[in-house]
Amino acid sequence: MNETKTIWMNGKFLPWKKAGIHVLAHGLHYGSSVFEGTRVYNTDSGPAIFRLKDHTKRLLYSAKALKMKVPYTATQLNEATIQTVKKNKLQHGYIRPVLFYGYGKMGLNPKGAPVEAFIACWPWGRYLSDKPIKVKISSFIRIHPQSTVADAKIAGHYVNSIMAVQELSGTKYQEALLLDYKGNIAEGPGENFFLVKNGTIYTPPLGTILSGITRQTIFEIAEDLRLKIKEKTLSPKDIPKADEAFYTGTAAEVTAIGSIDDHVFNKGKTGSVTAQIQEAYMDVVQGRNKKYHKYLSFVG
Ligand code: PMP
Repeated sequence: MNETKTIWMNGKFLPWKKAGIHVLAHGLHYGSSVFEGTRVYNTDSGPAIFRLKDHTKRLLYSAKALKMKVPYTATQLNEATIQTVKKNKLQHGYIRPVLFYGYGKMGLNPKGAPVEAFIACWPWGRYLSDKPIKVKISSFIRIHPQSTVADAKIAGHYVNSIMAVQELSGTKYQEALLLDYKGNIAEGPGENFFLVKNGTIYTPPLGTILSGITRQTIFEIAEDLRLKIKEKTLSPKDIPKADEAFYTGTAAEVTAIGSIDDHVFNKGKTGSVTAQIQEAYMDVVQGRNKKYHKYLSFVG
């Protein structure tokens, strides 16, 4: 882990090693914690956080799903995030804000436990490979939308992703693909999924998946590039008929998929549509596309 100097915790900046929690924190026992993964990129005008306001908005949406009374406003959390990046002099890396039910109450109902918060950041490069990755359909299915608020980014949900990732360790595959309870394609353990066929991009509709902020950006970018993009229920049977596939996520950015199970796309090489999207996305997050400066929060 690439340690940085300080972590914002409950309104104060603490040294990295001093930012701890009580072992009886509710969130640790039951997964009653919500989080975001946000990136900061070094642009020509200095470090800028990509879509900070949208990440904070989703963080508070997730907190609401767990009935958290968050003692901070979106504006305060945005400002705390900027200050955390600034104090750590982070140019390029990852930001992890977390809201969790802390110590004070046991039992499943977290009512009465304090809502605590922290924001950490550190240098973090590519999450997946810069080359097309080998994907395998998981034997685990994505959480059922009626089991929880599936589009909230709740820590407890991630046991599902962990199982899918652990299943592949020691195999030739680098990432999993989870189906939903109907057997349709849902998403990756930490990425949204896209297929390309005859120049049109398809991605599963919202419902069982996380409404990825990168996914939303890809819709805008595709329009700019005059590429057709559509939400569509996708079945594993659509995979062999497709020309390309890719994953998107704040951590994964745009990652080309070389194969799924035994089906190889484009001889295992990055397809032309994926390459266009990849390049355009990096231009956007790194501040090279003026139209998208609206999504950059400069650290100053
Ligand atoms: N799906 C899941 C399950 C995720 O954890 C993530 C990462 N946050 C994504 C999709 C991609 O979301 P985003 O583009 O907002 O990072």
